[in-house]
Amino acid sequence: MMKLFTLLILFATVTIPSTGNGEEPFQLGVAQSERAQGQFFVVKVTGSHTEPELRFMDRSFRMFHQPNGSWRALLPVENLAQPGSWKLLVRQGVYEKSLTLRVIPNNRPLQQITLDTTKRALKATETELTKVKAALHTETPEQLFAGRFMRPAAGETSSLFGLKRSYNGGPVESYHKGIDISAPKGTPVISTAKGRVVLTGRVEEGFQVHGNTVIIDHGQGVTSIYMHLSAITVSEGELVEAGTVIGKVGHTGISTAPHLHWGTYLYGTSVDPELFEGKSL
Ligand SMILES: [Zn+2]
Repeated sequence: MMKLFTLLILFATVTIPSTGNGEEPFQLGVAQSERAQGQFFVVKVTGSHTEPELRFMDRSFRMFHQPNGSWRALLPVENLAQPGSWKLLVRQGVYEKSLTLRVIPNNRPLQQITLDTTKRALKATETELTKVKAALHTETPEQLFAGRFMRPAAGETSSLFGLKRSYNGGPVESYHKGIDISAPKGTPVISTAKGRVVLTGRVEEGFQVHGNTVIIDHGQGVTSIYMHLSAITVSEGELVEAGTVIGKVGHTGISTAPHLHWGTYLYGTSVDPELFEGKSL
């Protein structure tokens, strides 16, 4: 009887976790510690069983679980973000780690755009603004994109991402949140990567500025937008592969000539699509 009692005590002693609270330190890493405006940082956390809290540039970002057990976030640097040093803070339970990341200017020039009076009179409707914003902020935990991101239409880049914009000689109010691919009306437009169609918007539904538009959720905070289409050939909720035709090039909405406006977004913030084209993440 005495022997059994001793054995039980021993057993109890060795199974008590040494840290007590179950927490353990994690490892934090970034692929590059300096990025330009309109680019993004790749942040990885390993050794954490639960999702770490991440803060950067006064914002919280979700981290997404990876097949190898690590956590990842693709952190966008807004095109008009203040260049300089910014602190990246990651917390998991009682542990906290930080890194200093540098943001440098991208020096994208000012672009003067002339619109005729009809196009100039077009104002974005509440419907398109609200729906586009919500769709671009989609954060599905599952990663749908796989392999290389594709260029969504054949044609030359006629306008770069990040150009500061002045309309008809007015003040700089915005910047170009994607690239323009010049192509004839009717050119097929394909999805840059696998994903789910989260928005189809048409001119007659109030998409006066964006024109006929498709937004695709690629998972883990990555979304893409295709604007000014002459036709949309997919429906909301549909799962598409990389390369699936989703519509045709046009010049609906505010557009001076047939072209595809292609935008890529991370957590609802636009980043340069050319960083994705031909690359795997
Ligand atoms: Zn554009």
